[in-house]
Amino acid sequence: MSQNVIILWYRNDLRIHDHEPLYKALKVNAQIIPIYCLDPRQFSQTDFGFPKTGVFRAKFLLESIADLRNNLQKLGSNLVIFQDKPEIVIPRLAQQLSAKSVFFHQEVTELEVKVERLVHQALKQIGVRLKSFWGHTLYHPDDLPFEIKQLPELFTTFRKDVEKNSSVNPTFSIPKKLSSLPKIDVGELPTLSDLNLEKPPLNSQGVLEFKGGETAAKERVKNYFWQQDYLKVYKETRNGMLGANYSSKFSPWLALGCLSPRYIYEEVKEYEYQRVKNQSTYWLIFELIWRDYFRFICQKHGNKIFHKSGLQGIAIPWQEDWEKFRKWQAGQTGFPLVDANMRELLATGFMSNRGRQNVASFLTKNLGINWQMGAEWFESLLIDYDVCSNWGNWNYTAGVGNDGRGFRYFNIPKQAKDYDPEGKYVKHWLPELGKVPPAKVHEPWKLLPVEQDRFGVKIGVDYPEPIIDLWQSVKENEKKYNRALQMTLGKINKRGRF
Ligand SMILES: Cc1cc2nc3c(=O)[nH]c(=O)nc-3n(C[C@H](O)[C@H](O)[C@H](O)COP(=O)(O)OP(=O)(O)OC[C@H]3O[C@@H](n4cnc5c(N)ncnc54)[C@H](O)[C@@H]3O)c2cc1C
Repeated sequence: MSQNVIILWYRNDLRIHDHEPLYKALKVNAQIIPIYCLDPRQFSQTDFGFPKTGVFRAKFLLESIADLRNNLQKLGSNLVIFQDKPEIVIPRLAQQLSAKSVFFHQEVTELEVKVERLVHQALKQIGVRLKSFWGHTLYHPDDLPFEIKQLPELFTTFRKDVEKNSSVNPTFSIPKKLSSLPKIDVGELPTLSDLNLEKPPLNSQGVLEFKGGETAAKERVKNYFWQQDYLKVYKETRNGMLGANYSSKFSPWLALGCLSPRYIYEEVKEYEYQRVKNQSTYWLIFELIWRDYFRFICQKHGNKIFHKSGLQGIAIPWQEDWEKFRKWQAGQTGFPLVDANMRELLATGFMSNRGRQNVASFLTKNLGINWQMGAEWFESLLIDYDVCSNWGNWNYTAGVGNDGRGFRYFNIPKQAKDYDPEGKYVKHWLPELGKVPPAKVHEPWKLLPVEQDRFGVKIGVDYPEPIIDLWQSVKENEKKYNRALQMTLGKINKRGRF
């Protein structure tokens, strides 16, 4: 093969729209070989022993790869699928095809960067160039008004500076045609059972039937923005927990790169032009800036985001109380808002942002349990797991990240009353509380025996007693937090860093 051959290594960027490596490879008139590696490390276990990629995300991933293959085939190309480590298959393929370069989108976190390094080392030995691109965020790092190492620690400072002094680049266009692949084995897409996973149970109670892939992603944007016209009320509805449209549900597609944030940005701008520009249209972009922020923070701080003491290095004496943790996982804590959300996660792989904040606060500020256990449980189950957003948000909620407000906890019954005033959400997931009136459903431990009889629920039998005293536990954990913070500040002062 005499033409310039470029291997296009797909990772969490499973799309053909707004794809710089694809666009740039086409510009130099190369023969492009798109590949995807199902890396066995992604299907191993987390430190606390949960499957790293649980069944919901695995299914979504396989659908996304299938859709990418289909879209590449429509352009005349194909996707070569490997079930092996990139550092093994990429150099082999490069030699087989005499490829000159490998193009890919870079990541920022430990495992992903390590893989990049290994691929780089292997390719260097055979004289093949590895060229990285940046494609996961709304704002490009080159356009930020500061160096990554100078990135503001507080979100609001970051956002204001970026909004004022940076701009979002336009999307890269979709190729019209690609050259066909040379005669090579394109590999089979494995099934869930090939990955030793069972099909997730069908659950009609979920917020949405998430289907992986760029095609379904664009369909969702069209549906949420244009057909159902929900964008104009997003700011008012986004704290909901029940149903498909209280929020965009773009996160699973964003996490695997089936959707580019810049594509969403352009759709929002078009919507503002054609329909309405208001606080809600702005707020969707605002949330995407949160997503950017966590990715840049991970880039700035490297592995700190995974440390127990978090970005701030606060050594809180966390518990590893597996008995209570298992109750949290199973939605058996006796606090309906927490239990409903945890059962939703277990049954569907999704949970609203409001839910995530509450269950994470409960685990860390009430149960005092090591937040890394919660983060890994989310990693295992979430269909939209994104390493930066997940670990960044957990840092934040556990109080070891970049929340400038110190020890902050969610008052669970109050949150429940504010965001689920009629108890519809908790009853959706906790049918045993179905007959309890809205005014009482969020605090079932207060039901008198006569009320329990009347509403057909026996506390301690049909629905658990609370596993902890909410207020006492918050007080104790706040003390621990403050002590740990003082020690951290003391150490920093001694080292003269303040
Ligand atoms: C403990 C915890 C863990 C989380 N783990 C993840 C995760 O693994 N993956 C993930 O994508 N989000 C995570 N989030 C953020 C947020 O909960 C989800 O992005 C959101 O619920 C997805 O629903 P949506 O797409 O309908 O969001 P929308 O409200 O429609 O927001 C639009 C998009 O903005 C981004 N976004 C919104 N809020 C946040 C946020 N707080 N942080 C980062 N990005 C945000 C997402 O990409 C989202 O798709 C986590 C939040 C918490 C509190």
